[in-house]
Amino acid sequence: MYAVVMHSLVVVHSRNPGIGNGLTYDPGDLNVQPGSLVKVSFRKKLTEGIVVSMDEVVKEKTYEVLKMQESLSEEPLLSESHLKTARWMAGYYFCSLRSALTPFLPSPPWRRLIAKERASVQKTCHPEHVEGSTRFSLGMTQLNDEQKIALESIRADKRPSLLFGVTGSGKTEVYAHLIADHMKSGKQSIVLVPEILLTEHILHRFEELFDRDSIAVLHSRLTPVARAKQWKKIRSGEVFLVIGSRSALFAPCKNLGLVIIDEEHEWTYKNEQTPRYHVRETAETLCNFSNAKLVFGTATPSLESWKRVKEEHYHMARLEKRYRDQALPSVRVIDLADVCFGKQYPFSPPLLAAIEERLKRGEQSVLFLNRRGIASAMLCLKCKKRLMSPASQLPYTVHRDARGNPYLLDHFSGTRASVPVACPHCGTHELLEVGAGTQRLEEVIGTLFPKARVLRADSDMLQTPEQMRELLQKMRDREADILLGTQSVVKGLDLPEVTLAAVLIADIGLSLPHFRAGERVFQLLTQLTGRSGRAKAGEVIIQTFRPDAAEIQAAAQHRTVEYLETELRLRTSLGYPPLTEMIRFIFRSVDASTRAKELKEELLQKITENKIDAHVSASPTVFGGGKVWHVLLRGKHLRSMLPNLNLTDVIVDVDPVECL
Ligand code: ADP
Repeated sequence: MYAVVMHSLVVVHSRNPGIGNGLTYDPGDLNVQPGSLVKVSFRKKLTEGIVVSMDEVVKEKTYEVLKMQESLSEEPLLSESHLKTARWMAGYYFCSLRSALTPFLPSPPWRRLIAKERASVQKTCHPEHVEGSTRFSLGMTQLNDEQKIALESIRADKRPSLLFGVTGSGKTEVYAHLIADHMKSGKQSIVLVPEILLTEHILHRFEELFDRDSIAVLHSRLTPVARAKQWKKIRSGEVFLVIGSRSALFAPCKNLGLVIIDEEHEWTYKNEQTPRYHVRETAETLCNFSNAKLVFGTATPSLESWKRVKEEHYHMARLEKRYRDQALPSVRVIDLADVCFGKQYPFSPPLLAAIEERLKRGEQSVLFLNRRGIASAMLCLKCKKRLMSPASQLPYTVHRDARGNPYLLDHFSGTRASVPVACPHCGTHELLEVGAGTQRLEEVIGTLFPKARVLRADSDMLQTPEQMRELLQKMRDREADILLGTQSVVKGLDLPEVTLAAVLIADIGLSLPHFRAGERVFQLLTQLTGRSGRAKAGEVIIQTFRPDAAEIQAAAQHRTVEYLETELRLRTSLGYPPLTEMIRFIFRSVDASTRAKELKEELLQKITENKIDAHVSASPTVFGGGKVWHVLLRGKHLRSMLPNLNLTDVIVDVDPVECL
């Protein structure tokens, strides 16, 4: 009646929601193991699948398990540590195994990942063909004393290391030495940067040190074919360094020795789609399973990492001085409430004078504004209403097309509309563009300094890493005087000729009702100060309506540790992450509001019955146009409440970064 047999759990390539956690097949005599690519029959069709586990089971002879058809790969497509990490993700982030596996593999057909494998000779980065070859140009930079001490302490500690170094202290050089260490011992390294455009910047730095052919760049803008090609190259061992944004963490390194997460505080390290993973925790899990070293680098540690350093869960190495002892720039805070602008809005006279001075001296300036377009809204002077987007119920931003004609754009839904002749609310013709975006900055600069060579870096102008590379080259070759743009101009760029960095309106982002708003502003402003005076004395100008805000003052005075400690105390007293856990439940269905309110009541009941220390709220999301609702649960031991909840049609977001 009973027999002990081997069964395989296979995640099948299918969108069917019911089988996201895999189906059982009988492998028979086939040579398969966890991670193998196999062919199985599903709904009477042959399809590809990945074996996620092999288990001995006691089988009742009365039911039949389908036989597996074919094993497609000689060796597993996914390694044991990758499979274990995917399983952890499915459990921790409340998603199916199939969702958790998605970032590990390029899009199907997966057969193309093994196509030439049988014929190709595998190359691995073993020490004997590394040193002395072109792959590794010994002549690496000499570290200064502070860098040497940091490097040694990172090498000596098995825990994840936080390399906390002021902007321009040379964190990248420390990374380079760590990568070289691992390369010499035949191990692969992954370096993550917070956004696609920054891959070019870091690639440029590492290309000078290592052979380009041994470096792979992975990011979500690659075409499926290019992605599959890079994937195969990494898996074959030809590559010892993978550079990329968030998803590059899942590169198929068989011999992973090191993961570096640069600018670890950046919120782009959280995936905002299922699987809603955060790179910080996922990388730690992957490194544990792979026995690899994890290094976080930043000038402004996230409160999550800072807390872990204090608990001695992370090791910390510090770089307190800029390389070559270059002083941090002087910072001037200008109160926008005191400025009479006229047509020069949003440039204050001291900022204009500072730009003019740079132009005269042949030095460069970086100008930052957290909004693209020409104006932040179109306002009717008669009825005082703004033109609203029906999709998000938020004001349209005004842009100009290549011919200079204005159009309306909803930044949240992407909807575009033409500017109406009359106000749709009252019918008068008194529509006015108000507020400024990066296009306005370009216009004002063009009028005031017609000879200045200006580069604009926002997502209207810059979409691919190649465009970013071109732009950075122009800055390095001094073919431009002013670089202006949104966030990509403040993050991580190392441009030695920049001696002025300015934020036009620091408050954009501050007014959002978000417990992380202050932390973000602090990080952005510190990043901004990091762009100026890297090679010679520099200056920073912060224009703001809130000159006394704690985060602005702390950034202006380079008081990072003090800011982190104050903010951590504040979060402790108010009960916010990282001192508590947070889970967000998102409802997009037609009955979103009813479902959210029901879940809130259900959770409240559990909190009271089990005396759990937690808070729960339900509300429409800020950018959901009233149709999307969410429930925010915050407190301790939240996971004990999740079993037995009705979570069908609900997106569960564990450790959310966005909560608006
Ligand atoms: P961070 O990432 O900490 O902001 P970077 O790594 O960009 O700083 O370094 C700042 C600048 O100093 C870069 O131009 C870098 O090449 C230079 N630098 C840092 N350390 C060294 C070193 N040991 N030798 C030569 N140049 C260095």
